[in-house]
Amino acid sequence: MSSNIRIEKTCMYCGEFFIAKTTVTKYCSDNCAKRAYKKRKRQEKLQTVDTSSSSTSVNGIQSKDFLSIQDACKLLGTSRWTIYRMIDRKQLTAAKLGRRTIIRRTEIDKLFQA
Ligand SMILES: [Zn+2]
Repeated sequence: MSSNIRIEKTCMYCGEFFIAKTTVTKYCSDNCAKRAYKKRKRQEKLQTVDTSSSSTSVNGIQSKDFLSIQDACKLLGTSRWTIYRMIDRKQLTAAKLGRRTIIRRTEIDKLFQA
């Protein structure tokens, strides 16, 4: 007489009924287990790509020496008009490069040193 446990389960991957030998078995076969594993890995990868791409944009700005108005907005989380107002009030030193306004990153840092 076999003392093996036999539990009727539903495969987490393909949904088929199968007889599991242990309570922790989730899949009907190695194939399903492997496929489910790959699927999970792929989803994890997609999620990490999502989070890293949004954080690299801010990190990218932080590593720049000169920022555009848009960069400064993103970094400070303010509107461009706030930035322009700060430039008008000489709270922020900006340089004009043709039509573009450039702000040194150190100027942004100075705001927080006062
Ligand atoms: Zn299966």
